[in-house]
Formats: sequence, C-alpha cells, structure tokens
Amino acid sequence: KGGTAEQQQAVNVLARQFLLTDERLAEIIKVFRRRMEEGLASDGKMMKMIPSFVTRRPTGKETGSYYAIDLGGTNLRVLKVTLDGKGGATSMHQKFALPDEAKSRTLFDFIAQCVETFLDDHNIRPTGHQPPINMGFTFSYPVQQTSINSGTLVQWTKGLNVPGCVGRDVVRLLQDALLRLGLRVKVAALVNDTVGTLLSAAYADPSSQMGIIFGTGTNSAYYESATNIAKWKGPNPKSGEIVLNIEWGAFDSDEFGVLPFTPHDIKLDRKSINPRKQAYEKMISGMYLGEIARNIVLWLADQRLLLDGRSSEILNAMWSVDTSYLSSAAVDNSPDLTEIQQIIEKTLNVPNSTIVDRQIFKVISLLVGERAARLSSVGVVATLTKRPDLLNKHVNVGIDGSMYEHYPDFERIMSETVSHFIPEEQFKNITFNCAKDGSGVGAAIVAMLAAEQE
Ligand code: ADP
Repeated sequence: KGGTAEQQQAVNVLARQFLLTDERLAEIIKVFRRRMEEGLASDGKMMKMIPSFVTRRPTGKETGSYYAIDLGGTNLRVLKVTLDGKGGATSMHQKFALPDEAKSRTLFDFIAQCVETFLDDHNIRPTGHQPPINMGFTFSYPVQQTSINSGTLVQWTKGLNVPGCVGRDVVRLLQDALLRLGLRVKVAALVNDTVGTLLSAAYADPSSQMGIIFGTGTNSAYYESATNIAKWKGPNPKSGEIVLNIEWGAFDSDEFGVLPFTPHDIKLDRKSINPRKQAYEKMISGMYLGEIARNIVLWLADQRLLLDGRSSEILNAMWSVDTSYLSSAAVDNSPDLTEIQQIIEKTLNVPNSTIVDRQIFKVISLLVGERAARLSSVGVVATLTKRPDLLNKHVNVGIDGSMYEHYPDFERIMSETVSHFIPEEQFKNITFNCAKDGSGVGAAIVAMLAAEQE
C-alpha cells in the first residue's frame, strides 16, 4: 500500500518466486519419494536414510531416571529425565551456549566439561565405587550409525566445522574426552535429534510414527518396516520395524533440481560453508531464513526500492538478520508496524524507515516463512504416505524446533498443505504435536531401551 509502481512490481516478482502452487509441490513430493526409495536401496545416496538401530517403541509405562547429552546447532544441554510411567516425562537440565571455539575446534572437550559441571552442580558425580552413569547422546549431524552406541560422522552441517572428526566414531571422541576428565560416564546410546524427538513423542503416544525438527536445521526420522529397507544387512528386528533417520535436509542437493531456487537462495548457498549441500534445509530452517530475507532486503535496497537505497554495517554482514526477526515481523499488526521499525532502525541500524519500507519487510518475512512451511509439508506427505496402512488409524507426528514453535502459523500452513495431498478420511487420523525438547528426553529413553536390550 502506498508504494511506487516499481516497488509494487518488485514485490510481485518476489511473490512469483516464493509462492508455490500445489502442482509444483506435487512434483517436488514425487521426486522426494524417489530419493527416499534410492536411499533405502543403497548407501551413499542424496538422502541417506540411516538405520538408527532403534527397533522398539516405548510403552509409556516405563519409569525411572535417565540421562542425556543433547548437542543442537546452537546449544548444548545436559539432562536428567524422569519418566512417570503414564507417558509423562520431566527433565532437569542445564543449558550451555556453544562458543565459537567449540564449534570450530574443541567441541568434545567442551561437551565433557559441561557434563562435569552438570554432575558437580547436582552432586551426582559417581565416585570410584559407584557404577558409571549411562547417558544417551543426541548428536544432530549426519552419522553413519554402526551400532546403538557408535557411528561415524558423515559431514558437518549447520555451521559446525571441527577438523579431524569426519569419518570417525563420534561416541569414541566423546568417550575419550570424558575419560580425560576422569568422569565415570558411559555413552550408552548415540541418537540423532529427530530419532530422539520421535521416541519422546512415542513415550507420550505410542502411535507416533514420525519425529521432525524445524530448528537451526531440519530433518526427520520415522518407523520403517524392515522389509522395505533393502540395504539393511543387520538382524531382522523382532518388532519388524527400524527407526530411520532420513537426513532430509540434504534433499535436492547435488544437482539444482526440483526445489524453487531463487537468486536469493543461490546467493546464500554460494557463501555458505557447505555450497550445494543441504538444499532443502536451506529453504526451511532457522539458520538460513533470516539470511534469505537479508539477501532480498539488499536486492531491493540496491535498486533504491527499499530504505532509500541505504544499508548499514550490520545489514551488510552475512547472517545479521536472525530468523526470529521474521517471526516478530510476521506478527506485527500495529498500525505503524513499530516492531518492524525497531528491527530495521535499532537492530539493523538503518535509521528513518518509512511505513512502506516496513510493509515490504513484513511481506518479505511472510513470503520466506510461508514458503518454508509449505515446503516442509513435502517431507511430511512423502513419509506418511510411504506406509499408507498406518494412516487407517491414529498416527501422531512429534515436532520440535524454534521455527515450528515460533514462526506464526507455521503448523497451520504446513498441516493445511499436507491435507491437500492426503485423502480426508486418512488426514483426519493424523495429529501434529509439539515435542518440546524431545530430542534430549528421547535420547534418555533410547539409553533406557538399550540398557534393557543388553
Ligand atoms: P536447535 O535446532 O539448535 O536445537 P532451536 O530449535 O532453538 O535449536 O533453533 C534455533 C534456530 O531457530 C536458530 O537458527 C534461530 O535463528 C532460530 N530461531 C530462534 N528464535 C526463533 C523464532 N522466534 N522464530 C523463528 N526462528 C527462530
């Protein structure tokens, strides 16, 4: 409203780039399914479909206290989880921000120090006479799992880049760091965060079929029938099922294929630490959406269609637009768009924004966020329709991550989009539930199941 014809035209260009029709989504879902099948058939495919060695479901009746270490892209948490036997879990945890030094060099020693701090602060450090504490380890990076508590790192994602880790067993790396501090802690289970999210959802609701993260990155895990996993050479599980970590963030990576890449996505990709990797993740998750928005803002400013062509040192710096600003902008319904004004003028340090500048900033936030929510339905539909028999009764999907939790209407847009691709009588059987902090709780549950299996 009130913008010039040139501004209107530029916004129309953006809308064309970012709005996805159902036809386009159907095409993407088809390719997504093909990539899933390829990953089930053999290793080394675009979507890795990694067997997690978790083959059981909790009943929700288990009780007791269990421990976990949860390494996300932004934070590390150490937790003590108590299961109440009625599907409820409470956790006591300590949160540590990952310093840059840990992200680039000292990661495993840093984790061990955090575990030590947690045990000491809670007075639960085992002495020489006590048995070691079993801990589940949530590790949200692609790992080729080799047993319930071992796995080699395939590659770093989400901004971590610690040399000397790719190709090595991350449990060994952590266990060695714990030993260096003399801690009696055994890493009993290695759990992808999506697997953890699924297992924590399954403790609350045993008909949970999928766990999803929309946080710093995005990924999902689901229960697959063992007979569908042609590449699986391990023993046939009693349950007939294995939890697979899809590693869906990698979808459409190696060739610029079916995803709707705009120049703003390509600019981000080129400057990222992992060009041509994690293409799906880069359109959906918290680490990237703010940067896509920043690219758009500068594209408009450079044509003098926004902020009168001005920028700032902050706005010029990569990653300076946090995705949380998009969430705040998308819900700013004040007449003067004061929240957005605050972001532009105070946070990004570009003074004197006009109301039209703010309106355009809001449109950018909505376009980038809605595309993310629409695209996230692709993985949900492709996965849930893989085992259509399951959709004839209640199926729960556990979801966690800041993007899901905070971006306004993310769940509504995603689930509405899913409903366009699944017949109504099946769609009504699906529930989406927030599995807040599920990855850590789930890792403790996997550590519990692993101890029972021994
Ligand atoms: P992780 O995935 O590391 O476990 P989170 O789920 O908290 O952690 O995700 C953190 C990511 O979410 C960051 O990239 C951050 O920019 C983004 N983020 C934080 N707050 C919000 C918000 N209110 N809306 C959208 N994204 C957010």
